[in-house]
Amino acid sequence: MTQRSFFGFAKPRFIYEELTDTLVTPQSVPLPSAVTLYIDKPYAQKDALTLKSGTPVKTGERLSLGDDEGPAVIATVSGTIQGLSAFTGDYGKRLTAVTIEVGKDEPAPEGFDPAAPPTLSYLKRYFTTAPGAPPLASLADSERGISKLVIYGGDADLLTHTNQYVAKTRSEALKKGIEVLQTATELDEIIMALPGETIQGHEYPGTTVINVPASYPSAQPLMVLFKTLGYTVPSDGDTTSLGVVFIRAEAVAAIGSAYLTGKLVTDKLLTIIDKQGNRCLTTARLGTPVRQILAQFKIELADGDRLIFGGPMTGSAIFTEDQSIMPDTDAIMVQDAADVSVCTDYPCINCGDCVRICPATIPVPMLVRFLEAGQYEEAADLYDLFSCVECGLCSFVCPSRIPILQYIKLGKYELAQILTVEEANE
Ligand code: SF4
Ligand code: SF4
Repeated sequence: MTQRSFFGFAKPRFIYEELTDTLVTPQSVPLPSAVTLYIDKPYAQKDALTLKSGTPVKTGERLSLGDDEGPAVIATVSGTIQGLSAFTGDYGKRLTAVTIEVGKDEPAPEGFDPAAPPTLSYLKRYFTTAPGAPPLASLADSERGISKLVIYGGDADLLTHTNQYVAKTRSEALKKGIEVLQTATELDEIIMALPGETIQGHEYPGTTVINVPASYPSAQPLMVLFKTLGYTVPSDGDTTSLGVVFIRAEAVAAIGSAYLTGKLVTDKLLTIIDKQGNRCLTTARLGTPVRQILAQFKIELADGDRLIFGGPMTGSAIFTEDQSIMPDTDAIMVQDAADVSVCTDYPCINCGDCVRICPATIPVPMLVRFLEAGQYEEAADLYDLFSCVECGLCSFVCPSRIPILQYIKLGKYELAQILTVEEANE
């Protein structure tokens, strides 16, 4: 929702929408005939020997590729492994896709045990791929010196409602999750960042509750870091270098619920946004193909329509309905072909809209010129590339339809790659 100023020089405001009655009962998507889960490791043919086609698996079983302590995924269904394949995620990230044909539900006999002491290594073992994708590897990395955990109960994009819903309706699971994380991390400082009305009526023992403004992008982690907690956004955007870790409310509630019920949470809460902008909160098993979710909502794709994981500001296009929902998929948005802004060759007309709206006061037009030319280091050194909190507002308002956010993300990615190569050569 946009509020435009009467005076042309003031910034337009984008306001997070509060949950309404029509959204508060998530619609459940039936279990698909097969789910596909992703392991954070490039596919190698020898891995097909570890998780062979035909191998039975049970809900809650930890599926790793050879090394039991290495990257793994928790099976969200019982059934039979159909196969392993290579999968390329955002920015070329190489993963292994594990497809499981769904069978009769049976819990894994040797899985998560709520009576086991909740150490970080134990949580990392069972919750890394839980709904909300808790950043347990960062928390468990003793070299990072984490001193502050921030739970965010707001959503990173407009039109998405996962964390707001959790903050409003799952307070017991949240409280238990906080207690477990306090024991595991021994951190003195845990902060709950909650937007608007979500803050009322709930108390979270052991946390400091802070209110974030209702205007977008205030609830985004980097904005909370920058505007509410008063930190400078680190040059690589990695908040752990400041000793701060952000975790979604959904992830904390998933941990808490498992300790309360003894069962791992296997369903993801997400918002479906159709071509008309109608929204519906839904739950679907992690690994459900997008195709099945669209069918449930009677959404048909036509030529040129765009499928997006995430909301309208920061979402990323996906290329096939066969892709499955992941632990951090908070929304699936379908954009009508007629509304898809074709990337144009229009040049920047120096209108200044992007500068006026940028919450990080970045000289966006200059930044874009350097990024377009592939001069990433200059973009970082001279024009604040790393101060960008990736809110997408500049792209949204740009009349020349320059894909500014995509340039920024690509620039950061390229610089990170350069840094990795330099470090490897040292
Ligand atoms: S440069 Fe664009 S994406 Fe980055 S903070 Fe500014 S408005 Fe947001
Ligand atoms: S909004 Fe677009 S056209 Fe306007 S100054 Fe920024 S980059 Fe240039």
